[in-house]
Amino acid sequence: MTDTHRNFACVGQPCELAAGRAVFLSSHYDDVALSCGGTVALLAERGPEPVIVTIFGGEVTDEVLNQFARWKHGRWGLTDMDSVREQRQAEDTAAAHILRTGTRWLGIPDAIYRGEHHLSDDELYGEVQAAELPLAQLIADEVQALPEWSDTSTVFVPLGAGRHVDHQLVFLAGRHLADRSVQVLAYEDCPYVIHTPLALETRLAELSDCLGAPRYVKIASTFERKLAAIEAYATQVPVLFRFTSDVRGELTKFGQRMAPELGAVERFWPVLPQAPI
Ligand SMILES: [Zn+2]
Repeated sequence: MTDTHRNFACVGQPCELAAGRAVFLSSHYDDVALSCGGTVALLAERGPEPVIVTIFGGEVTDEVLNQFARWKHGRWGLTDMDSVREQRQAEDTAAAHILRTGTRWLGIPDAIYRGEHHLSDDELYGEVQAAELPLAQLIADEVQALPEWSDTSTVFVPLGAGRHVDHQLVFLAGRHLADRSVQVLAYEDCPYVIHTPLALETRLAELSDCLGAPRYVKIASTFERKLAAIEAYATQVPVLFRFTSDVRGELTKFGQRMAPELGAVERFWPVLPQAPI
């Protein structure tokens, strides 16, 4: 048996990941379903009902939209802000229903709506700007103020592979929560890690001092529901997976890449508290 297989045998059950309620932080509406929808569905079967919290689901008006945001909307086939919000929240509700989880939307605007900070893909996938760093603390505070929150909650955050600034900010919120003695696990950001595997290696190297050894969850029994939940984000899938004409095939291959004989697997890294200075 290889080391990898021993890891699977030891930590294959979701109850070992999260003893209390699981709180999944999704930078955008679709991130959790895409990255760890199989584990969400498994934890929902076990109970208590997990909750997916979309952090950057905030609303803005048409008048303040910059050109970059308008271009993004055009690519999604949506033309005005009301239809963007209604469509994306309807998709999110449908996905949550499939995964049998609760859902909440915090009111923080997506990076493409935050004034003039992010006006190109280069700015969207780069260093978090100093002026935005306080958002991470705010997110941590908001999460701990949710009605679903309890001291036994386990929080899941994106690793930030791919360096989208919103993903990095939610990861940083996870670090704040870990420093407050909360159990925090980071998931690998899909589909970034599918089309750019090097992004994962780069990010893991960058975070080597604050992540524990990865844990694995076998999701074969909920994999079909994960796929259905992803497909519920109908405006996003063609854009996110524009590198392939076989979305199901790509997701299946990706899920099974670590141990094909075990079926699909999702992987998580514990976020460690910072050592006291
Ligand atoms: Zn995202």
